Amino acid sequence: MKCDVCCVNDAIILQRHTGRYLCSKCFIDDVKSRILDEVRRYEMFRGSDKLLLALSGGKDSFVLFDVVSSIHDVSRLGVITVVEGIVGYSRDEDITWILSGCKELGVDYIKTSIKDELGFSLTELVDLSNKLGVDVSPCTYCGMIRRRIINKYARELGYDKVVTAHNLDDESQTALINILRGDLSRLIQSHPKGPKLSPLFIRRVKPLRKIYEWECALYAYLRGFKFQEVECPYITTRPTLRAKVREYLYRLEAVKPGTLLRFLNIIDDLVMKFLENANRLPDLPTCRLCGEPTAYNRSLCKTCELLTRVGVIR
Ligand code: SF4
Ligand code: ZN
Ligand code: ZN
Repeated sequence: MKCDVCCVNDAIILQRHTGRYLCSKCFIDDVKSRILDEVRRYEMFRGSDKLLLALSGGKDSFVLFDVVSSIHDVSRLGVITVVEGIVGYSRDEDITWILSGCKELGVDYIKTSIKDELGFSLTELVDLSNKLGVDVSPCTYCGMIRRRIINKYARELGYDKVVTAHNLDDESQTALINILRGDLSRLIQSHPKGPKLSPLFIRRVKPLRKIYEWECALYAYLRGFKFQEVECPYITTRPTLRAKVREYLYRLEAVKPGTLLRFLNIIDDLVMKFLENANRLPDLPTCRLCGEPTAYNRSLCKTCELLTRVGVIR
């Protein structure tokens, strides 16, 4: 069977949400052009912006690096990896391609770790937390702390935007979780045009947010990415609500291909409408311990609150 787009090459994939059969070249072109459309639609970055790419080394990171380095001036790119420090899960293999990619293109590369920044690795923090009976999942610590470290580096090194590799599956799950929790403020915050609530925050943008996870995996595979066999051991301890939401959305996607895409598109439109009519919100207060922004009506940020509970900071 021939590709539905070029009608020349053999089709290798059925793109279920469009019903098209595509060859590898047309599939790669399609993913790239949808990423570019999303970047333009929400003016995620301009040619003059200094971008810090937050890469963990997985397939989504690979797609992000591959596409952004082909559309943006590489002298205005930097890459950061925050190594979690998880027993049985080494990042060394994951980041080999990042090191060589950055070297080849002359892109600045920062490698740091949770241990370097906090004095405790993620495993040490999780063990401490379990010992003290603090009911917080490893992924909560991991995401919160990495976000904090990346924002700090971006701000101190003068980057205009932090660019992350969240894909459509991640983003639609997050949107549904926020709806189920009744958390309008987070729903708005995760929109590409969400308000910047503190001058201390460097805006985060997510160019892959309309690309399915399976598309990222296939794109990475077709471009020669080597998949790691070992998974993070904490993956199964992810918050139950996210696991349930993921399963539910996948079931809907299986019977109605394109569900995730339509869902995130409608959320985007609704939030845009809301933002057009909303008053400007005041800046967030800062945490009395670390000086980073914290939620309204809080004197301590969530990170400091948790790190205080496990005794990492006093
Ligand atoms: Fe961090 Fe959770 Fe991902 Fe492991 S699965 S790297 S703990 S966010
Ligand atoms: Zn084709
Ligand atoms: Zn704090």
